[in-house]
Amino acid sequence: MTSAPSLSVSSATDALNRVFGYPSFRGQQGDIVEHVIGGGDALVLMPTGGGKSLCYQIPALVRPGTGVVVSPLIALMQDQVDALRTLGVRANFLNSSQDLEERRVVEAEFVAGELDLLYVAPEGLGTAGVQRLLDRGKISLFAIDEAHCVSQWGHDFRPDYLALSMLHERWPDVPRIALTATATPATRDEIATRLQLTDARHFTASFDRPNIQYRIVPKNNPSRQLLDLLRTEHAGDSGIVYCLSRASVEKHAEFLSQNGIPALPYHAGLDARTRFGNQSRFLREDGLVMVATIAFGMGIDKPDVRFVAHLDLPKSLEGYYQETGRAGRDGLPSTAWLAYGLQDVMQQRRMIEGSEGDLAFRRNAARHLDAMLALCESVTCRRAQILQYFGETYETACGNCDSCLNPPESWDGTVPAQKLLSTVYRLHKERGQRFGAQQTIDILLGKRTDKVSRFRHDQLTVFGIGADLSEVEWRNVVRQLLAGDFLAVEPAHQTITLTARSGEVLRGERKLLMRREVAAPRASRSSSRA
Ligand code: ADP
Ligand code: ZN
Repeated sequence: MTSAPSLSVSSATDALNRVFGYPSFRGQQGDIVEHVIGGGDALVLMPTGGGKSLCYQIPALVRPGTGVVVSPLIALMQDQVDALRTLGVRANFLNSSQDLEERRVVEAEFVAGELDLLYVAPEGLGTAGVQRLLDRGKISLFAIDEAHCVSQWGHDFRPDYLALSMLHERWPDVPRIALTATATPATRDEIATRLQLTDARHFTASFDRPNIQYRIVPKNNPSRQLLDLLRTEHAGDSGIVYCLSRASVEKHAEFLSQNGIPALPYHAGLDARTRFGNQSRFLREDGLVMVATIAFGMGIDKPDVRFVAHLDLPKSLEGYYQETGRAGRDGLPSTAWLAYGLQDVMQQRRMIEGSEGDLAFRRNAARHLDAMLALCESVTCRRAQILQYFGETYETACGNCDSCLNPPESWDGTVPAQKLLSTVYRLHKERGQRFGAQQTIDILLGKRTDKVSRFRHDQLTVFGIGADLSEVEWRNVVRQLLAGDFLAVEPAHQTITLTARSGEVLRGERKLLMRREVAAPRASRSSSRA
């Protein structure tokens, strides 16, 4: 293999113009590049599509030696390297997908100083072999991509990242730049501490994606609702539909196809060839809908994704924001749409409670879910809520989310919530019984179902005390109680139980504002009826 000649760039702007073909830096790119070229450490927070790659690629070209990039996205390394090579950049990678011979070639290139960029998997960097290799060449910088993976309390922890703290100890003179598109202030601090970047300069771009319209609708018939959305607002558009399970992915891909919307499935259960084939069709062709689990999307750069739809509740706000962030990279109007219902909350709570993880793990998972639920239940600007979660101050209403476009009517659910919690309490205290949400709602509504009669629940004093509300409203009350952790789901039997916080509602210390659910919500039409 003959190695490409060095590009010999004279400066950052020279590299930007001649190698990458861009006239100017975007946002803070210029400052970051200059800082790293000067040998400084940096922690960069930029939303997906913000242009993080150039922040380390350009310094790697300007500084003598090879830029070593740590990335967990092994499946994308080949593509990234190929793309750089077409630009004339001398790039290669080391990961577990290569055989010994291939690795030898890359190692030789590195030692001979023939690489501008070397991508390595985090698990590789932890090994003595790779560390000794790095000692034999000249390193211009370390770039740690997806740096939030080092955070144990983040949503995407990867144990191999913990070993990266040794980079600073072993190569104290090599500048390091850590980059991520998702981090709350707490995660940010944890990244800085764990990677020993507390003295590094922090560059934080706004996470706002003003062209994305955020909408969260109550789920009643998700397939229909999705079809409606695509037909009325996104005919012929490219988009991604996220589902929780593989079965649901298959089902919805087929459902859309049958209804005349070209759609492809993507999940980890498909063989690599099919996955790759579907992915490249999605990237190349116009107007395809990818129906996928969250296995799809990392590192996918398709500028004209017009919508991201979630048919199931994401586990964290970080995940939700990362997934919806794949819409509208070209800056044109795009939709982030999520259908959310009581079953989602029950299911996620049950998954957490029934998980193998220890108490700390479950608490952490619950904390992430709570933030997501708070967004779903909120009656105020969604964007403001999201950005505040990521530590930005955003005081105004955005004008481009469902809450802003179609301000939800809210109603005071405090008294109904108290009725519901008392019912759960009585069933348990007086009769030693636990039931699911449906039975509890039937009791409150005063419905004489078979099950109500069988358990003689019509003789409870609370029977029928909630007949003033509709079933939909009652489900909303249960959902919001679950969301706020005032009610819990017992995993084995799906029964609902009181929590340590239920008392706050029962004693009237908590007011619960509910979103009024309309029959056919459609946020895009700014309604004057409100
Ligand atoms: P991130 O890693 O932050 O998600 P990328 O580095 O993949 O973002 O960049 C997103 C897109 O923006 C890419 O297509 C990239 O080529 C483009 N881009 C980055 N910086 C610039 C710039 N200064 N001028 C024009 N396009 C840019
Ligand atoms: Zn808004």
